[in-house]
Amino acid sequence: MRAAIFRGPRDIEVGERPDPVIREPTDAIVRVVLACVCGSDLWYYRGESPHAVGSIGHEFIGVVEATGSEVSAVSPGDLVVAPFIYSDMSCPHCLHGSTISCKLGGNFGNGTIDGGQGEAVRVPQAGSTLVPVPGSGHSDQTLRSLLTLSDVLATGHHAAVSAGVSRGDVVAVVGDGAVGLSAVLAASRLGARRVIALSRHPDRQAIAKEFGATDIVAGRGEEATEAIMDLTGGIGADASLECVGTPQAIATAFSIARPGSTVGMVGVPHGDVPTAQTFFRNVGWRGGPAPARIYIPELLGDVLSGAINPGLVLDYETDLDHVADAYAAMDERRAIKSLIRVGSL
Ligand SMILES: [Zn+2]
Repeated sequence: MRAAIFRGPRDIEVGERPDPVIREPTDAIVRVVLACVCGSDLWYYRGESPHAVGSIGHEFIGVVEATGSEVSAVSPGDLVVAPFIYSDMSCPHCLHGSTISCKLGGNFGNGTIDGGQGEAVRVPQAGSTLVPVPGSGHSDQTLRSLLTLSDVLATGHHAAVSAGVSRGDVVAVVGDGAVGLSAVLAASRLGARRVIALSRHPDRQAIAKEFGATDIVAGRGEEATEAIMDLTGGIGADASLECVGTPQAIATAFSIARPGSTVGMVGVPHGDVPTAQTFFRNVGWRGGPAPARIYIPELLGDVLSGAINPGLVLDYETDLDHVADAYAAMDERRAIKSLIRVGSL
């Protein structure tokens, strides 16, 4: 089969990988329909984090082609969403909600295990990992939104859930990448009264507003903190969502958190939490990689009903042959997030 191959920083191309086959009775083979590039894939692309040579990509939807003898929850022909981590949903970590720590889990597209950016994927723990999509004849817009359940929307939702966003809250979202925009949507969906999006880019501001942002703050750093304190009467945000991970973004997220609140962190941290400042203001933080598999069923209903349209973050599109351009477009900020159209239903 053809699949994206990571060869090294700034060196991704479509190549050949072995056709996936059922190896364990808990496996399924999924033919990929849509995939996309994650902000975290860019770290590998830019050489900021190591990645093994080989398969890459962990966000995909597709159609089940074959199942192992112990897989009964999905069947050949099913349209399925794959969370970015596979998991058994029955080990102690899964049962406590941390599917990303599953004892039998693992990452798609880690160099060895099939990646989503390819024609097909062998999915381990398929019955507990894959979520079948009810209905048929879904529009392309719906399919694009279903793809975001794989990671980006689930991650934005995790930021909001981790920060304890509830009805009537004032929420501030640091970061206007695809995850930050998804966090705006998630906060709004959970009933936030006011969602303040930090963004300097008109195209991203427009999506943030579409997703429910009530206020836009264009400044950064201390300027952003001052603007948000002004907007909140000097109190700060009831929930501050950190969706970037840079030292400045982390500092901003904590500086705008109301005393007694919780910061939801989903940007992979490249800086430290200001412990003393946080301690003396009774501010907490939660977050980490999203347990996407747990969130997908809840979010899926709102995608299918049309209540939310998270696929809007996918503003650039290539096919598998042009996967290198999908990465370059995000690297060069020509794209918020690149869709890779691999197959059809
Ligand atoms: Zn598990």
